[in-house]
Amino acid sequence: MSDAQSAPSSVAVLTSGGDASGMNAAVRAVIRTAAHHGIDVYAVHEGYHGLVTGGDLIRRMEPAEADGILHLGGTVIGTARSNQFRTREGRRAAARNLVEHDIDALVVIGGDGSLAGANLFREEWPGLLAELVDSEVISSDVAESHSFLRLVGLVGSIDNDMSGTDMTIGADTALHRIVEALDALHSTAASHQRTFVVEVMGRNCGYLALMSSLATAASWVLIPEQPPAEDWPQQMCQDIKAGRDIGRRHSVVVLAEGAHDRDGSPITAERVKTLLEDELGEDTRITVLGHVQRGGAPSAFDRYFATLLGHAAVERLLADEPGAPAQMVGLRGDRVVTLPLMECVADTQQVAERIKTHDYAGAMELRGGNFRQAYEILQTVQQAAPRPVPAQRRFRIAVVHGGGPAPGMNTVVRAAVRLGLDRGYTVLAVKNGFRGLREGDISEMGWMDVSSWVAEGGAEIGTNRDVPGPAAIAQIAEQVAAHHIDALLMAGGWAGYQAAYELHRHRDHYAALDIPIVCMPVTINNDVPATELSIGSDTALNSIVADVDKIRRSAVATRRVFVVEVMGHDCGYLALLSGLATGAERIYLPEQGITLDGLTADVHALADGFRAGKRVGLLVRSEGSDRVYTTGFITSLFQKEGGELFDAREEVLGHVQEGGNPSPFDRVQATILTARCLEFLSQELESGGRAGAMIGFRSGELQFTNLTEYPALIEENVQRPTEQRWMEHRNLAVVMRD
Ligand code: ADP
Repeated sequence: MSDAQSAPSSVAVLTSGGDASGMNAAVRAVIRTAAHHGIDVYAVHEGYHGLVTGGDLIRRMEPAEADGILHLGGTVIGTARSNQFRTREGRRAAARNLVEHDIDALVVIGGDGSLAGANLFREEWPGLLAELVDSEVISSDVAESHSFLRLVGLVGSIDNDMSGTDMTIGADTALHRIVEALDALHSTAASHQRTFVVEVMGRNCGYLALMSSLATAASWVLIPEQPPAEDWPQQMCQDIKAGRDIGRRHSVVVLAEGAHDRDGSPITAERVKTLLEDELGEDTRITVLGHVQRGGAPSAFDRYFATLLGHAAVERLLADEPGAPAQMVGLRGDRVVTLPLMECVADTQQVAERIKTHDYAGAMELRGGNFRQAYEILQTVQQAAPRPVPAQRRFRIAVVHGGGPAPGMNTVVRAAVRLGLDRGYTVLAVKNGFRGLREGDISEMGWMDVSSWVAEGGAEIGTNRDVPGPAAIAQIAEQVAAHHIDALLMAGGWAGYQAAYELHRHRDHYAALDIPIVCMPVTINNDVPATELSIGSDTALNSIVADVDKIRRSAVATRRVFVVEVMGHDCGYLALLSGLATGAERIYLPEQGITLDGLTADVHALADGFRAGKRVGLLVRSEGSDRVYTTGFITSLFQKEGGELFDAREEVLGHVQEGGNPSPFDRVQATILTARCLEFLSQELESGGRAGAMIGFRSGELQFTNLTEYPALIEENVQRPTEQRWMEHRNLAVVMRD
């Protein structure tokens, strides 16, 4: 093996198969990371067609060519299906085109078909080069210096259908498009008392149908992995009718395009419509969302997630041992993981196989626990009423918020009410946070009280930042006793955690407070302990990203630096992630602070950029980054120093970040976490336990941490947890800026 093969000569990136939003972010990250390591990087245009054709379709990229593509949907380097690449001859031409450009490392972004094709190409590579040597197309020296092909695959697929990774590039954006459409349909359906049958993408994968149903309170869902029982037509009609009878003004049936019955016969939108019209006389309309689902600007998640993956792909290519098998880079929880590509492809194809052979239990098994749980929760929350329960409701569970308002709070209350009633509990809502608990502002909730809450921003039952002192705790204990509260679910942020901890801490003094308590992270700041992620922050990120897109566009005719201030108190999560998702040149975090030397260097670097042709500069500053170097100060500094080169503008995004309707991710997670919290409280109540806990996402799993650990998990005097794993990505922001 020659020395030249110990590191890749040049890297190429291509996008293949169906386009997916976020592919551009991944391409940009590949280009910037390769450039950061001083490696030549090429873009292969039009997928495998470009690889086979070569010539102009394989082009060297400068880092600046990755400018201005992060926010675009689709793929700017094009994608195509190629039958030629399916032939050995086609792949031989592809190999020749690559070695001619001195390329022996490839990042392929596509679906399972594209990745399977890439793997075959990698396996055949030595043979293909030998054939090219035999036919004197390349010299044996060239073949020897590129004796194997390094390959990393990233999954670009809106279906989220790949085993081994929690998410695929484009799935979150597609979910945004579907949920936007379903939200819109809900209001028109309600006005006319109509039923809509909505077909969404997903031939073998019900992810989009399932999650969009969970996020929008659809009445029925049909997915390929779990065909309905044989009597589904009667069942569906019964359920829709029951919904009408209790006053639902709209019904929506969501159908994955690959839905079928237990015999494998397709269930089409037309079949569902006919049924509802014939059996119930419902005014039924069909909406096929089609390619709308692929389009549009990528969501905040797809932008930073694809950036992480593109970066990791190049790092992996550089670290790979010669001859290492092809890898796939994906996501497990908040971790970027590398897995053997072909195992993931084989597992994915297994799901399709099981569906084909009617092994539905097996297909659901392969989809994993989260998918199955989401399906089960959906079955409960979409019912028209709770299942029959014992005459006497057994336990009384209260839901309370604490901290600032966060998108997802209403979703939590809705899920708690429905899932709690279905378990046979009484569910109480505490109004206006812990102040309301002190004042006894508590009311019992019914099934239909929360019927439109899944999608609504804000906090219907109210929240505030009150943390009870000694006198308030005594009053709260009285109210808890007076209302016979058996358990407490606190869904909120920093102040909510403090308040819940205070109650738990005083349980020895007040018997009424010796009850199970669970805290759920619902805050845009993502600053509470025992979790890597909080509900609400995804919505806030999307809101920031949408605003920054507009801000950037406002500067088309000028040369301008924007200093954008985002929320977060003492926690820089929103700043770092939104900075990554918007391609910010500089990101200022409370965790790192701001120095005058740093600012001086930043002014010079930006000025150099503008001299070289830059038109817009973006700085993202977390509100608590520094007391002296405020957003106003930094703007003035850049304005003064920019001179003739650029001017500077301050943009404080403010409360819009807290106010939006929850994103699909926040809705789905709010519902799933609530279900887990109720399970926890239920176990405690049934077993006579009285534990306090904080639920959180940890290494991709939902875990409970004892509430007594709370003080040890937060920093002293600043509002953030001691452990913040997302801080690992701060160096990525440096690699990504040009
Ligand atoms: P996706 O990647 O979205 O699953 P396809 O299955 O259509 O999309 O694959 C995209 C392209 O990948 C195909 O047009 C073909 O060029 C290539 N490809 C797919 N499967 C193979 C294979 N088994 N062998 C070689 N090339 C393949």
